[in-house]
Amino acid sequence: MKSDLRSYLKEIIGGSISLLTGMWITLRQSFRKPVTVSYPYRTLKLPERFRGHIELKADEQGWAKCVVCMACQKACPSFCIKVNGYKPAGMPRKVATIYILDFTTCSLCGLCVESCRFDALMFSREYNLASFRKEDYVMDMLERLRRRRICRP
Ligand code: SF4
Ligand code: SF4
Repeated sequence: MKSDLRSYLKEIIGGSISLLTGMWITLRQSFRKPVTVSYPYRTLKLPERFRGHIELKADEQGWAKCVVCMACQKACPSFCIKVNGYKPAGMPRKVATIYILDFTTCSLCGLCVESCRFDALMFSREYNLASFRKEDYVMDMLERLRRRRICRP
């Protein structure tokens, strides 16, 4: 009987301490500045080294800097890059006609960007992608470059 009462009191004291601790944490947090923002009305500044999906870079004339050396395609461990192109007459280098990224399997490892010796690839600052269709993540990089109001071959 005595031990029942003791364990009952122990439970009450333990429960009260835990309740007061919880209330104290809630009270303390309510006076702190929030660390979240009301997305999408407000957004946070992206860190310098943020990696979105890869993106083609353009030269001064607006052409893709890619010379179709295939190094990025070979370096990708997930086989998510497909590049093709040709060498137009009078051009000193090849130009890309196909540059497809399958972002559904990309792990953002960065090996493609590192392998490009022509400074033709970069990480985008894109973080806002959303779709119900996975086909939307198979991206035509040359088309994206064109949409950035830059001509392409
Ligand atoms: S490594 Fe660079 S230049 Fe070579 S195909 Fe890839 S993007 Fe183009
Ligand atoms: S970041 Fe990695 S996984 Fe993604 S395309 Fe480049 S090499 Fe492939």
